[in-house]
Amino acid sequence: MTLDGTNTYIVQTATGHVVVDPGPLLPDHLQVVAGQGPVVCAVLTHHHADHSEGATRFSELTGAPVLARDVTLCRGGVLPDDGEILNVPSPMIRVIDTPGHTADSVCLIADDGSTRVLFSGDTIVGRGTAVVAHPDGNLADYLDSLERLRTVTDKSCILAPGHGPVRGNAAAAVTDYLAHRQDRLDQVRSALSAGAQTAHDVVEIVYSDVDRSLWPAAELTVEAALAYLRDEPRTD
Ligand SMILES: [Zn+2]
Repeated sequence: MTLDGTNTYIVQTATGHVVVDPGPLLPDHLQVVAGQGPVVCAVLTHHHADHSEGATRFSELTGAPVLARDVTLCRGGVLPDDGEILNVPSPMIRVIDTPGHTADSVCLIADDGSTRVLFSGDTIVGRGTAVVAHPDGNLADYLDSLERLRTVTDKSCILAPGHGPVRGNAAAAVTDYLAHRQDRLDQVRSALSAGAQTAHDVVEIVYSDVDRSLWPAAELTVEAALAYLRDEPRTD
């Protein structure tokens, strides 16, 4: 489920490095990242272990605080509120709360005046689609978060996702994700109209072309879609 692994990003600032997602508890990896120079702080995009598990060890190695939206993961500091910036002089790094993939998901936008980079965690991944798994994931929140990201990105903004390659045009990635989600919701609505009763029934119809080993994950995604559709205002 991590594609080719989790991406750890090192953002050079005027006062030291901001490390986005130290990643799993891999001693060699943490050593290499810590060895790049002084660290101002590590920020976790969300609590999933492949992003956060190494954070405590990384903090011990570097003496740097760990900042996350879930306060139980913070060490030696707290993440600024939604829309606020990290305490580094340059680039400006803004925190954007983007619940949906998980309730505690955040993105960061770094801006040095000429280049902007969106660190999207698992809210947008570089390949395939993000998982919004019921019940920690919430599709209504997720769609709101994507709309929000649409307002803060444009085609010059670089996308630095939690998994998969870095790419240009973050705005296009956001738009593609929104379109994909709406397509899937339409497919789930059709499956329900065709008589599907359970998430499993829906998966058999909507994900028939997807390898069966991925069906359990798909079922959690469908559960999130069903929860969303249950709350949707009825039009009839
Ligand atoms: Zn995740």
